[in-house]
Amino acid sequence: MWIKASGALTENVVQISTSVSTHLLILGELAAVVDTGISAVHARLIEELERSMGEGGSLDYILLTHAHFDHVGGIPYLRKKYPDAVLVTGRQTAEILSQPEMLEQFYVKNLACAEAMNSELELSKEDWIEALRVDRIYGDGDTLPLGDDVEVKLIAVPGHTEDAVAYFVRPDSALACGESVGAYAGRDKIYSCFCASYADYVESLDKLAGLDVRILSLPHGGVVTGELVPKFFSQARQEAERFQQSVKERIDQGELTTEIFESLLPEWQLQSICPEGPFVEEQRMVLQAMIKAVAGA
Ligand SMILES: [Zn+2]
Repeated sequence: MWIKASGALTENVVQISTSVSTHLLILGELAAVVDTGISAVHARLIEELERSMGEGGSLDYILLTHAHFDHVGGIPYLRKKYPDAVLVTGRQTAEILSQPEMLEQFYVKNLACAEAMNSELELSKEDWIEALRVDRIYGDGDTLPLGDDVEVKLIAVPGHTEDAVAYFVRPDSALACGESVGAYAGRDKIYSCFCASYADYVESLDKLAGLDVRILSLPHGGVVTGELVPKFFSQARQEAERFQQSVKERIDQGELTTEIFESLLPEWQLQSICPEGPFVEEQRMVLQAMIKAVAGA
């Protein structure tokens, strides 16, 4: 099944949906949410969390899959609402979030999105940036117990970005992995997202495909479950290979990467995973990065 709406997926896992992002909320005795979307939709994110956890419910952990502006934008608001929430990231993500120029960039992009969506950030730039301090760093294979026999394991999955990690929830076999497996735009429509490295991306895909995943959470496209999961993994791999080969052939034939980019852009921007406005520039950058990753390999 493909599920985009908010709601319980298993006993311990709930999907939280905003207009531009989807998240796993994992509930043991403690509660953890994976990624936080963009600032512009923070009110909806919090509303949905409250609805799932009950009015007095508290969020204990915020888990980040990677440092991209559209995954960190809700952190300041979650921290304000849940001051005890612990921000957990992989090692490289923490490194990125310690760089003032990166934090500035994330802020600026979230501000641009908010303006495009007629929303306000409601926080000063200083407070917004200060809220992105990482509390706890996990390495590949580290496990976070949430009580009630629910645990979340961090798995390093570079390729989309160098810092990308996935979170595997046991015993529910739910996996949240940012764009490390690509983006889903509906039936048979998977877009690759290897901004950092094609070889790493494919290796990470294989690694994740080898897990017994029953629920696969995509950051903007809801979850796919059951028989759609292995189908998704094999199609994601095929699509990555197809993209890599076709770009490589064109480079070998002497086409400039800028020419390839311009010719692929129109179809690329038809992806329906994101609203037109705020993500258009981001989509351009992903396509550019992927062509560069093929050219540089
Ligand atoms: Zn990303």
